[in-house]
Amino acid sequence: MLHIKPIPAFHDNYIWCLVDDTSSHCLIVDPGDANPVIQTLEKEGLLLQGILLTHHHHDHVGGVEALLKQYPAMVYGPARDGIAGMLNHHLVEGDIFQIMGLDFHVMEIPGHTLGHIAYFSEGMLFCGDTLFLAGCGRLFEGTAEQMQDSLNKITSLVDDTQVYCGHEYTENNLKFAQLVEPDNKNIQTRLVQVRQQREKNLPTVPGLLSLEKETNPFLRCHLPQVKRAAEAHSGEKLNKSVDVFRILRQWKDHTS
Ligand code: ZN
Ligand code: FE
Repeated sequence: MLHIKPIPAFHDNYIWCLVDDTSSHCLIVDPGDANPVIQTLEKEGLLLQGILLTHHHHDHVGGVEALLKQYPAMVYGPARDGIAGMLNHHLVEGDIFQIMGLDFHVMEIPGHTLGHIAYFSEGMLFCGDTLFLAGCGRLFEGTAEQMQDSLNKITSLVDDTQVYCGHEYTENNLKFAQLVEPDNKNIQTRLVQVRQQREKNLPTVPGLLSLEKETNPFLRCHLPQVKRAAEAHSGEKLNKSVDVFRILRQWKDHTS
């Protein structure tokens, strides 16, 4: 049996740990900090097999070197995101690799960074800082077009995909979603649930891709009410869904 647990790091990062219960082997996704990972491995007697990286930001790769000093694991990551020197396996769009009995499919999803990738396996998507629950990553390197294309790639996956993102931003994102779509009942319901989870200090991640389509404004730029909200906010006439996306992203950047 496989189980997946978040290892909280820094203020709001999740380092994902995939555990094969039979062998006690594990994989770690985006270890920004080695210490909480080492604690988990030691406490649970896990054997690190591989490290999967989504993009070059320090809060996702900062713990790799220290982990490798203690555990000789294979490191997988994007061929083109400035971290090639850390990697044993340089991944590009369409690559499929096997580790710990799982097939991982690699998707290039530029926008937050230019070389950002995601990993899809058995209905699970590890997407770093591209799609967040009820939100998306900031455009540090890419364009609105690139990010929207990347999000479209993700939404083309099956609806019951579980989205494992890199940060606990859901509550804050839903507050913004509510600004954009004040009449969306699904957003209201989700915000109530998420607040209850956060009050108990429970993670809100992972989440279902189908729920993202109903509540994530960045995936809903084609809808008339989202377009109207972006137009009202910007005072501009927005003809294309990517223009709506760009305004939403700027609006969110200045909201929190
Ligand atoms: Zn990042
Ligand atoms: Fe991050």
